[in-house]
Amino acid sequence: MFDTVLIANRGEIALRILRACRTLGLRTVLVYSEADRHAPYLPLADQALCIGPAAPRQSYLKQSAILAAATVSGAQAIHPGYGFLSENAEFVTQVEQAGLRFIGPSAACIRLMGDKVSAKHAMRAAGVPCVPGPDTSLPDDPQQVLAIANDIGYPVIVKAAGGGGGRGMRVVHERAQLLSALSVTREEAARAFGNPEVYIEKFLLHPRHVEIQILADQHGHAVWLGSRDCSLQRRHQKVIEEAPAPHISPALLAQLSERCVQACLSIGYSGVGTFEFLYEEGAFYFIEMNTRLQVEHPVTELTTGIDIVEQQIRMARGEPLTIRQTDVQCHGHALECRINAEDPKSFLPSPGEITAWRLPGGWGVRVDTHAQKGYRVPPYYDAMVGKLIVHGVDREDALRRMRAALDEMQVGGISTNLPLHRELMVDAGFAEGGVDIHYLERWLKESALA
Ligand code: ADP
Repeated sequence: MFDTVLIANRGEIALRILRACRTLGLRTVLVYSEADRHAPYLPLADQALCIGPAAPRQSYLKQSAILAAATVSGAQAIHPGYGFLSENAEFVTQVEQAGLRFIGPSAACIRLMGDKVSAKHAMRAAGVPCVPGPDTSLPDDPQQVLAIANDIGYPVIVKAAGGGGGRGMRVVHERAQLLSALSVTREEAARAFGNPEVYIEKFLLHPRHVEIQILADQHGHAVWLGSRDCSLQRRHQKVIEEAPAPHISPALLAQLSERCVQACLSIGYSGVGTFEFLYEEGAFYFIEMNTRLQVEHPVTELTTGIDIVEQQIRMARGEPLTIRQTDVQCHGHALECRINAEDPKSFLPSPGEITAWRLPGGWGVRVDTHAQKGYRVPPYYDAMVGKLIVHGVDREDALRRMRAALDEMQVGGISTNLPLHRELMVDAGFAEGGVDIHYLERWLKESALA
């Protein structure tokens, strides 16, 4: 049992976690970099400690500085948020060796799911449907590699086992390109992820991105909290998310989610987690598991009425989950727009001082943000300054509420992608629901030509 939590993150998620801790009556310790020393949320913590300069490697990624901050502040648990050290098995080991509690799964589970080949192997063994292709890394022999690709059928995608953040992947349309794509990806993987292992699988042409949220306690009980659709992406980065995933049979989703729950139990997983799938022509294909809290968790909170961060902290304290699967109901529809400090056309980051800041509100509207008027968006980190989330009785209602909320929201001094969101919310294709993962990039190309 712990009563003091160190939050090893920044921005909206640091504030989100801080609020959950306060609701639970826990003491909070925030760590921050020099670039974040004026962050408006710092005074809300019981204690705030500067851990280094702006560069993430010297602060939010610096394990020794974070562990030292935990020691001096008396924190007994560390919440990693998302990004930074949230999926770093080595850090989890360090935390545990220091006698502290990591708010997340075990180092072994993070390691297993962090390697895409071992994750695919474990999930296939647990009966979770995977993308066609072997769950082993590619052999050195070129003839064997060509034979494997022939069996799968082109197009295929070469992926780094240790890849992440949309990097370390290459699509191959024909046999003649395979071996060169393989060696480039291997080299890149060794350089970027310190692991040259690569694998191949079928490249799906028009899939949707559909994911399942799981809660698993330390006592062998796990539940799923419904689906999310995150197909609106640019450069593999999610832009808009929603819950539930539209136009998919609830029975099919329930069947898939049960498999995910069983898979969690089979690997001894505990904490919150997300199974990510590609969905094409009525079938699901596992691509990876995120062993942490996700940016888009609020859409699930609004549709299920369950505070995911509170549950995550309770589970880390060793409490048994009191939620049974039959308690979990999905009500209405929720949408989330990620508000980024960036040019809506060129997507170049737009850091600087926010000189005007008007937030929307009203029934079914939630804004998760750390920003405010006068806040300076630093240039060193992710460009997201907040998330606008709405809940409606159905998807149509949620769309109406999101349009009104986006109209109401005003940000001055920096550029944001609000104009892009406003356009997407009135786009006929998006309004219909169920667009594929390439929809946004096609749309951007067409609107640039228009
Ligand atoms: P990362 O860990 O870098 O996010 P993922 O394995 O989750 O990598 O893949 C990221 C994105 O790449 C997916 O959301 C999808 O857009 C695309 N992708 C990955 N695998 C495939 C595949 N087999 N077929 C088609 N698209 C894929």
